[in-house]
Amino acid sequence: MLRDLRGATRRGDRADRQVRRTGARGEIVSGKVASGGSVRSAVIGIEIHVQLRTATKMFCPCAIPTDADEPNSRTCPTCLGLPGALPTPNRAAIEKVIAVGAAIGAKTPSTTRWDRKNYFYPDLPKGYQISQLDLPLAEHGSIEVTTSAGVGSVRIRRAHLEEDTARLRHERAGDGSRASLIDYNRSGVALLEIVTEPDLRDAETSRRYAEELRLLLRTIGAADAEMENGQMRVEANVSLRDSEEAPFGTRVEVKNMNSFRSVERAIAFEIARQNELLDAGGSVTQETRGWDDTSETTYTMRAKEDSHDYRYFPEPDLPPLAISDAWIAEIRARLPELPAARRARYVADLGLTAYDAGVLVGEPRAASLFEAARAAQPALDAKLLANWVAGEYLRAANEGAGEPEPKQFAALVAAVGAGEINGATGKALFAELCAGPLDIRAVITERGLAQISDDGALEAIAAETLAASPQALADWRAGKQQALGFLVGQAMKASKGRGNPARLGEIMRRLLDAQ
Ligand SMILES: [Zn+2]
Repeated sequence: MLRDLRGATRRGDRADRQVRRTGARGEIVSGKVASGGSVRSAVIGIEIHVQLRTATKMFCPCAIPTDADEPNSRTCPTCLGLPGALPTPNRAAIEKVIAVGAAIGAKTPSTTRWDRKNYFYPDLPKGYQISQLDLPLAEHGSIEVTTSAGVGSVRIRRAHLEEDTARLRHERAGDGSRASLIDYNRSGVALLEIVTEPDLRDAETSRRYAEELRLLLRTIGAADAEMENGQMRVEANVSLRDSEEAPFGTRVEVKNMNSFRSVERAIAFEIARQNELLDAGGSVTQETRGWDDTSETTYTMRAKEDSHDYRYFPEPDLPPLAISDAWIAEIRARLPELPAARRARYVADLGLTAYDAGVLVGEPRAASLFEAARAAQPALDAKLLANWVAGEYLRAANEGAGEPEPKQFAALVAAVGAGEINGATGKALFAELCAGPLDIRAVITERGLAQISDDGALEAIAAETLAASPQALADWRAGKQQALGFLVGQAMKASKGRGNPARLGEIMRRLLDAQ
């Protein structure tokens, strides 16, 4: 369903931001909604459209537009729908969808076909969209999703290939008159539509499913799937029923969720809204509702229309597509390690916690640094390395720091692990490494950064510090425990940051006890 761009453009381009949270209207516990004495069960199905990462559009040689492109600059007779222009399928897009199918354990048909989906709307220059009706490129797959309740599986009904529509912009001209502008740059971009079975039961799982799907698409290089700029559009069908066994209730389609956080909040809100309606003796209206990030509510976009008759029929300008087993096998062989498998390996083989494995695998850049550093220093303690990647690296990366060179990064973590430099020195060197090339081994020697672990030297530093801090000693005697921390800090300073802080702490404590 791609028709609701009027609402989508009006409300859709808002950035995710911190907003006031409206009170929870009904407590949601593992998909059950309890309020007013009744307990209902939510049923959620999710439909996601993702722009594939290809060099050119789905059926023409136009380059994929960027936001910097002038409107209508990336067009040709085919994606403008001019009479007589013929489509040519994009092989890379087809291969990416076959790869998605392989990654989610779906079936790929030996022959597939293109269908025309007919409807009239200005964003669709031909008057129809080339899509796939009953022979999708992938069917019956699943994705493993981890939530606070544990690990579960979401079944995927189908994934098919189609072309994106143009973008409509509704503006007001200088004289106050209203104008609708059409930008055909997006028209004809390869679009993957992925539809789940109605397996989801709560907002958290829905969000996690969308996040996990994006991670999978990014990992296999099928898509960038940036929700914020519309490369990935999530729609949820939400309904309530009296029990797990009862027939499905009236469903509401929720759109315009522009971030994963919005997905979770919009679905939670919609479940609560329907529950409240039913509690009050009302009934749910079948309709399409949009999510408003500012008010954190859903609003009616359009009431149920008569069921669409898209008059699908086979696309006469394109022959059916034969997909050989050998082609599928070749694509499958090119798949990288998938997120679920990688997480399992990190836990089973490397001894990482499920949480750490999730953090590393959840951010492809972090996982690739972790892998590259391990390749450079196979003997490096995996847990220590994971802490550095999940902690220092991700924090710095989120602040916009550069990428550290993996070999030098491994050398740095190894030096900290061996106690050769202390953690503070390690962090300072890490910041330098992110800023540019650095030879860690050479720098430790040249700058004399090696940690002082020699007890004799540390004792001398500690004793000097203590002698120079009569007030801290008085505090300690008066029972102020924090004086110890202050003294260790002063001693670390006196060691020019090179002291072994743990040893210094022990030594200082011993000296204080002896006072
Ligand atoms: Zn074109």
